[in-house]
Amino acid sequence: MSQLYSELKMGVNPEIRTRVSIPMQGVKGSAEFFSFRNISDNLEHIAICFGAWEKTRTPLVRIHSECLTGDVFRSSKCDCGQQLNESIEMAAEQSGIILYLRQEGRGIGLYNKLDAYKLQAQGHDTYDANAILNFPRDPRSYQCASEMLGALGIFKVRLLTNNPEKSRQLEIHGIEVVEQKSTGVFVTPQNLAYLKSKILKTNHKIKIERSKEMTSK
Ligand SMILES: [Zn+2]
Repeated sequence: MSQLYSELKMGVNPEIRTRVSIPMQGVKGSAEFFSFRNISDNLEHIAICFGAWEKTRTPLVRIHSECLTGDVFRSSKCDCGQQLNESIEMAAEQSGIILYLRQEGRGIGLYNKLDAYKLQAQGHDTYDANAILNFPRDPRSYQCASEMLGALGIFKVRLLTNNPEKSRQLEIHGIEVVEQKSTGVFVTPQNLAYLKSKILKTNHKIKIERSKEMTSK
């Protein structure tokens, strides 16, 4: 296994590298924001690296997809804002890294996400709404996350996620996930159906109360 990873490490594209790093005052802990050059999807993803992250052998990493409504405006339609808060707290405590990916609306974009919300208001779940709009259930790729970690010199992580697809894709792209840690569970009446869909349709590991009720449907 270790040989595989060292080979992949050697294969990392040297063109993909950090562009600038900027200390960001006011963010909890001592946070440094990194931009990148030549990430394969050409989006403006950001890494937020906390404390002594460079000295941490296997840092805690959270891959967070941008969610304007949840992250900025605190919508309770999803759990993104709370998950982001939790990951900032944990990363600040543990010298971890947040990869903030510009994949709004699970990769379909903000306007399409609002279209999907409209369909959800008519009774469709989050994944069926995507299908009606002719998008895959979850078109996100995490190759960019692997590229960012590689550019930061990180090849082994403890991943904070409930989504097994993130671990799977990181491993494919040369990042060893030595541990997958679950996030907290942030249930509201408005996001309950959304969380259930994540569990039932994309195998998210979320323990919400009355889980028997979910599996019976
Ligand atoms: Zn969200």
